[in-house]
Amino acid sequence: MRAEHLIFLYVVLGLAIFAGLALFEERRRRSFEPARDPDQVFRCQQCSLVYTDDPEVERSRCPACGKTNHPFEFR
Ligand SMILES: [Zn+2]
Repeated sequence: MRAEHLIFLYVVLGLAIFAGLALFEERRRRSFEPARDPDQVFRCQQCSLVYTDDPEVERSRCPACGKTNHPFEFR
């Protein structure tokens, strides 16, 4: 095998490893995303209790006083 072929092989291998690592990192980052904030945060308008509930519900009942609240907005 000639030296140029070896260098070419080396470069291709290096690029393949780099691409594989980038893909792995991207997939790992994506798999973490849904786990970051699984619950919706609610803040009771009556007793100011902060609690969480399923993300798909539109309103949630306060576990302390029973008042129905809308999701808490962070913005
Ligand atoms: Zn409450």
